[in-house]
This record gives sequence, structure tokens and C-alpha cells, in this order.
Amino acid sequence: MANKVETTQAIEIPAEIPVRELAERLSLSPVQLLKALIANGIMASINESIDFETAAIVASDLGFELALEGAADREAAVAAEVAEFEAEQLVVPSGPVEPGIAWFLADEDEASLEVRSPVVTMMGHVDHGKTSLLDSLRNTNVTATESGGITQHIGAYTTMRNDRRITFIDTPGHEAFTAMRARGAQATDIAVIVVAADDGMMPTTREAIDHARAAGVRIVVAVNKMDLPDANPERIYEQFASIGIVPDSWGGDTFFVKTSASTGEGLEELLDAILYVAEENPPLANPNRTARGTVLEGKIDPSRGVIATLLVQSGVLKRGDIVVVGSDHGRARAMFDYTGAPLVTAGPSTPVEIMGLNEVPTAGTKFEVVEKPKAAKSLAAVNATMLQDSQKSARAVPVTLEELFARAAAGESKALNLIVKSDMQGTLQPVVESLETLSGEVRVEILHADTGDITESDINLAAASDAVVIGFRSSPDSPARRAATAQQVEIREYDVIYKLSEDVELMLEGMLDPVFEDRTLGRAEVRALFTVPKTGKIAGCSVVEGVIRRNAKARVLRGDEVMADSVITSLKRFKDDAREVREGFECGIGIEGFKLFKEGDVIECLVRERVR
Ligand code: GDP
Repeated sequence: MANKVETTQAIEIPAEIPVRELAERLSLSPVQLLKALIANGIMASINESIDFETAAIVASDLGFELALEGAADREAAVAAEVAEFEAEQLVVPSGPVEPGIAWFLADEDEASLEVRSPVVTMMGHVDHGKTSLLDSLRNTNVTATESGGITQHIGAYTTMRNDRRITFIDTPGHEAFTAMRARGAQATDIAVIVVAADDGMMPTTREAIDHARAAGVRIVVAVNKMDLPDANPERIYEQFASIGIVPDSWGGDTFFVKTSASTGEGLEELLDAILYVAEENPPLANPNRTARGTVLEGKIDPSRGVIATLLVQSGVLKRGDIVVVGSDHGRARAMFDYTGAPLVTAGPSTPVEIMGLNEVPTAGTKFEVVEKPKAAKSLAAVNATMLQDSQKSARAVPVTLEELFARAAAGESKALNLIVKSDMQGTLQPVVESLETLSGEVRVEILHADTGDITESDINLAAASDAVVIGFRSSPDSPARRAATAQQVEIREYDVIYKLSEDVELMLEGMLDPVFEDRTLGRAEVRALFTVPKTGKIAGCSVVEGVIRRNAKARVLRGDEVMADSVITSLKRFKDDAREVREGFECGIGIEGFKLFKEGDVIECLVRERVR
């Protein structure tokens, strides 16, 4: 390139920089820079700002190296903090040491542990009554003088039943639960699966059950809306029994409680069932130490500043304690219970709200109290470096199918965890069976199997459980693809069953490290261009060969030139969304991050496959 400049030293720029200013710093004309941006698919105007990462990519195309302003100073400061911290020989809370042992107990002496009250999350299909049950349960032991019930201030509450306490996390849904788990948090002891008696088990109910099972938490089933005339609990029992969750009334080991959030039926029984399950396998904590736990929620209150809802899981949190939350630390200047009443101390399983942090913490972040301000700074610095590493990739290395298989075969892990998605019920069964033939050599644990696209929830479950996602004629949607990249989750896509069986056989033979190649599934030719509101530029195409599939990888070719290497984000037949379109048919195709179609462009739809 004519304007390539050999730089020996990186040029420092801020985290965000206007295009014009970047051009000046690189001694380029703004037009040169804009061209390079367009070549990378970025349409920015000269006065618009771009972020450091974008700037670095474009600059490197032009032969420049960029560095973030002040990065060296920050690194040195962190290194100094780490050194100081190590000198003090503090124990850094790590992730779970062994599966099944919560991180906040990992380094505790067994003799120091005592029973704490259970923490419960509600899961299930939308509209089956999770929120209504949480609301009704909160008010079960409210006396008449508190008419109107307790106004809840934070995302969790506690309730009493026969002098025993139960904590409910008030963010219903398994998505939040698994997203927290993917960050290493284990806040829940028992999951209440809510299912409406008039509606029955739905795909989300199945998903919630699988998420709860994968986390190893005990399940209690609330058969809700019993007040409705078409409530049919027997049908619910059958549906659950068919997936191995057998009601106690049928001789199984899972409590099914008939409830109505509307009439209050069964609410006390539900609390009893929860307490009974907790008693069978008591949750533990060391109450005689400084507090440790998990952030449930973080927000900014216009008048009070940063507010964090914390779940104390071990130890006692006291007002005035120095709390380290991720890379932030602060003093719990004020502390409140879920009703908003001020608190001085809070023991295990207590949700509290604190003021005094500097940054809004993310749900699922662990917190830890330290005694000395200096230790807080050091611990926060160590967490910051760990966080930076983990932002590059959630895990040090991606967990691949081969690696999981090898680990399981070598006895290093107990099972090969898989999540299976396929295009339809008819293919799901053979795929699951084919994978189950691996069992014997290793224990194959299918955490979740369902039809439909691979979703972000599947990726979160995989990340939280060290699993690989198998897609059979099913691809990840855009949020899932992004999540998979960020969390380093492997997605293996298959289009024909014998390829999958072949992979399985090869793994059984111990042939690892396979080679992958993109195979063309189909080709479409761009015939016309049009703009669709919200979706953007769409190419009106004719499928000239094979099949085009939504969410599949795709390349846009103009002659020999590859214009884009991306993903099909939208696929339409007339006005309707289509999963796939076959040869001889017309369709509209949208490609992620690419809009500059021209008539005559060819869109190739690809599938990544292992080659012998
Ligand atoms: P969620 O989406 O699972 O949190 O469900 P909600 O708690 O928001 O409830 C959905 C709808 O079902 C609301 O209109 C509730 O009033 C209603 N609902 C919830 N529980 C019951 C119940 O036990 N009986 C009846 N009849 N309606 C209920």
C-alpha cells in the first residue's frame, strides 16, 4: 500500500475518537481513512466517533499500530497492586473447587458449617403464574394491620413458615438463573417449577426443568391456577412423569403442590414442601466469618446513588463493612432489608440492599467482605485483572466436543454434557439416540434436547455446565452466535445424520483433532434490491442450487471476490419468515453486517463439517 508507514511505536489514542481526529493523528487524509472504514463494512461520517477496537483494526490495515492511552500506566498500577496483594498473602476466592461445592464454602472447614435457610427461584412458562405466586407468598404471613401487603423494595424477599425462613429470589425465570450460573454464581438451592393446570407443560417448562436439573438444584412443582374450571392436574402429573419427574402422590420423589395464586389455595403447602426438601439436603454456610455472597441486582437511584442488592450466602454482613464486588470496592454505608427497613447485620441467606459502591455491579458477580481497606484495593485489582482476562474470553480455552469426550473418557470429568437442538421432532429422536450410543465409554448427559433454533439460553446453559451444543439442521440465531463467541461455547452443526454418527464413531475410536471445512449447502443469485423497514437492505434472490437456510453461515460473492463472510440473519418468502428455501424458489435474504448488494451477486449458504 502506498501510504503504508513503518511504525516502530504504537500511536496512543483514547477509547473513542472522531474519524477526523484519528486521520490527523495518523497523518492521513480523512478520505483515506473513510475508505478503509468502508472496506471493513463501517459507514461512519467524518465527525462520528469510533471505538478503539474499530480504530485499531482499520489502522492495522493501513500499517499503523494503535495503543489505548494510559494502558501501560494502568497495567503497571494493577501489577503493583497484585504484587502488594500477594505479599499480604490473602486468600482469593476462586470458582467452585469441586463441582457441587459452592464457591463460598470451598475453603471452609466442615466443622464450621451450619444449616442456613433455603433460597428459592421460580421458573416456568410465561403467564403460568410465577410473579403472582411470588406476590401471594410474600403476603401469606402478613397480618391484617399491614393491609395492602408489604411493599417490596428489592429483588428478593424472605418469608416465614412455622418459625422457619425461606428466601425467594424475585427475578423469576430460568434465563436469569442460568445467566448468573454462567458467571459462576450459585444463588439458588431449590427451583419451584410453576405450571398452569389448565395449560400444561410447555417448551419453556421443559427448558426450565432442564436448566434446574443441569444446575443440580432440587425441584418442587407448583401446579398453579387450580381455581380455573379446566384445571387438569392429572394431565400435568402424566406429562412430568413422562420425563422422569414422578409426583410423590404416584410414589415418586418430587413434591407436586396444587396452588392458586388467586385464591391462596396451596400456598402454605408449597412452603411446607420447600422446607421439607431443604431439610432432606440442608444448605450450609459458615455464619461466623466475614460475609460472602452474590450480587442479585445493581442500579442507580437518582437520589441515593449506586444501590446493590446482595444475597449474603456465608458469614455476616455488617453495616460499615468493606465490600469487594468484582473490580469495585466500597463501604456498605447503609444497609436495608427487603422492606426498606435499615439493618445493622445480615446473616446467611439474607437479601439486602446496600449503598456505598462506586460502580453498578452486574447480577451474578460474587462479593466478599475484607477487613482492611488496603486488602479491598488489592482484591479489587486482582479481580479486575481476572475480569479483563475473562472478558477476552469467558474461559481460557473453548471447550470442544473432542476435549470433553477425552476428559470424560480419561475419567477427569464425570460426563460428556451436550445440548441438542434439531429442526423437528422427527429428527430429534434419532440424533439423541445416535449421541447416546457414546454412553458406556463415557456417560453422555443430554442436558437439554428440543426443536428450533439454537438460542442464547442454550448457550448460557452450555457455558454454565461445560457443555457443547449440537445443532442438527438447526443454527444459532444472532444473539446466540454472539453469546457463543463471547463465552467460547462450541456449536457443532450437522446436516445429515450419518455425518453425526461418523463423528461419534471416530470419537469412540479415539480419533481426535478433526479437520473442519465449510461445505456449500446452496447458492442464490441476487436479482433485485429492496429496503425493508427495521430489517434493512434485503437482496431479492432466486435459489439456483441446493438450499438456503436462515441463521446459516453465508458468503457474498461478486465474481471471484468475497464481499462478505457472515451469516444469513433474515430469510423471507414473500412477507413471511422462512426457515429454509429450496432451489427454484424466490426469496429475500438479509446478511448480518452487509448491505452493499449488487444485482448478480451470489450468496453461498455454508455448513461447517468435519472432513476425513
Ligand atoms: P408469569 O409470567 O409466570 O410471572 O405469570 P403471572 O404471575 O404474570 O400471571 C399471568 C396471568 O395469570 C395473570 O393475569 C395472573 O393474574 C394470572 N394468574 C396467575 N396465577 C393464577 C391463578 O392461580 N389463578 C388464576 N385464575 N389466574 C392466575
